[in-house]
Amino acid sequence: MRDRSGSVQVVFNPEYLPPETYDDAERLRSEWCVQVEGVIQRRPAGSENPALPTGDIEIMASGITVLNPSLTPPFYITDDVEADESLRLRYRYLDLRRPAMQDNLRLRHQVVKYIRDYLDERGFLEIETPILIKSTPEGARDYLVPSRMQPGNFYALPQSPQQLKQLLMVSGVERYFQIARCFRDEDLRADRQPEFTQLDLEMSFADEEEVLTLIEGLYSGLVRQITPDFKVAAPFPRLSYADAIARYGSDKPDLRYGLELSDVTDLAAETEFRVFHGVISGGGIIKAMAVPGRGGLSGSDMRRMEDTAKGFGAAGMSHVRLSGDGNLDSLSDDNVLFSPGLRMPVEWARRLAARSGARPGDLVILMAGPPRLANQWLSAMRSHLAGEMQLADPHTLSFAFITDFPLFEWNDDGNRWDSTHHPFTAPAPGCETLLDGDNLAAIPSRAYDLVCNGSELASGSIRIHQRGLQEKIFGILGYTPEQVLDRFGHILEAFEYGAPPHGGIAPGIDRLVAILAGADSLRDVIAFPKTQSGSDLLFGAPASVEPGQLRDLAIRIVE
Ligand code: ASP
Repeated sequence: MRDRSGSVQVVFNPEYLPPETYDDAERLRSEWCVQVEGVIQRRPAGSENPALPTGDIEIMASGITVLNPSLTPPFYITDDVEADESLRLRYRYLDLRRPAMQDNLRLRHQVVKYIRDYLDERGFLEIETPILIKSTPEGARDYLVPSRMQPGNFYALPQSPQQLKQLLMVSGVERYFQIARCFRDEDLRADRQPEFTQLDLEMSFADEEEVLTLIEGLYSGLVRQITPDFKVAAPFPRLSYADAIARYGSDKPDLRYGLELSDVTDLAAETEFRVFHGVISGGGIIKAMAVPGRGGLSGSDMRRMEDTAKGFGAAGMSHVRLSGDGNLDSLSDDNVLFSPGLRMPVEWARRLAARSGARPGDLVILMAGPPRLANQWLSAMRSHLAGEMQLADPHTLSFAFITDFPLFEWNDDGNRWDSTHHPFTAPAPGCETLLDGDNLAAIPSRAYDLVCNGSELASGSIRIHQRGLQEKIFGILGYTPEQVLDRFGHILEAFEYGAPPHGGIAPGIDRLVAILAGADSLRDVIAFPKTQSGSDLLFGAPASVEPGQLRDLAIRIVE
């Protein structure tokens, strides 16, 4: 018999039971809902089950009531369930009966409760903001809800409560938080959900230091209290965006292992390798990564590794294999192997090794390309190799803050500037005048991220709180003054009534719980998640609606 606290064995003994009771017990099948009366007793010696937490005891039944029988479930309710995930999602209410899923729901509750208590103790007010609002941009498409009372007009579901929390700062709330549902209509990349939950928070008069210290205390305390088996080192390291890209090729590096990158464009320029020269003359870079202990790989191992790199989109991969042991001076023509096309004197290999931190016995891989791509490929290779070499300790949570993001990034497809974070992020102090120049890519912002083990857990920033500056940013992002007034007039106006300086952050709850639960997918920590294609398999949503409903909304479907 199972309830949410666990399972226990129930024994029906025909010798002591009236025949009807015994017959009832014999009819029982999996997943029936029953009420049992009896006495808890020690199991007879030799029949204990050490695999069960309740394996030393059993219930000697004296009565049974069937509260409700069950159909044969479409899959066994056990943690090593073999059913296809779509079947599990179709019967989610049964899937959630599995002990592992119950644990995940409980963990999520504990995490949210810890967050509420932590913020309550620090003077934050939990305030609900509406779900039916007007578009507040976070860089995704909005979910729209047609208005019946104002045909042709639409609400948007919040991509986040960003503007609402800023307005609460104008209202004098000073410290706000909310366990907020956010909606983003994106083509779902791996492991995203169209609706997800954030801890949304905002503080008046706060600077970066105050927000980051608050979050560091929250996360380190939460992990220590709720999942103490994880190792967490606080204070969390802080890396500028530029450093993160330079050293790891990514703004969400997994810091549980090294495998750092280095720029070797100048060394590459000394070679006669045509590929390198082509890349350099096109404004590209060459970066290297030393892979410890892999200098002895064979030529075919290296070809396989290059294929892996190409799988990540890389144009190619060069390498230098260093064998022997001892220091770099021991390298000679006999123990340095270059990939085809890259023959260089040993002395060059020594400099490459010194630059990339390689030692005899190590492998150095090199990739060439436009800076963004070279970093992206090497970063993918870095995670791949760390996985293969099992470098990442699964019991360590390596939190870090990434700071000093650029304010804008150039969007090639749209041929315009986008906000790196969102349009409400303030430029770094003293950089306002650069907004009139043409090197917009170089303007630093006051945005920060929290990352952990290669995932982004939170984004936030100190905000703009003055109308003029906010209007200027919207202008750079390509909004016309009419669009700005129409979409953002309310917040611009609010800024004119003594809006305090403010800033905040919004950590995702789903991913945090997934990491703490050791879950493979966000779907395992959300009670009723959607599939990769945005479907709810249990309800069968999205679904068509009655013609009358469409008529009420003045909507016609175009085939
Ligand atoms: N609204 C932002 C987001 O959802 C977070 C923030 O800036 O506080 O990413």
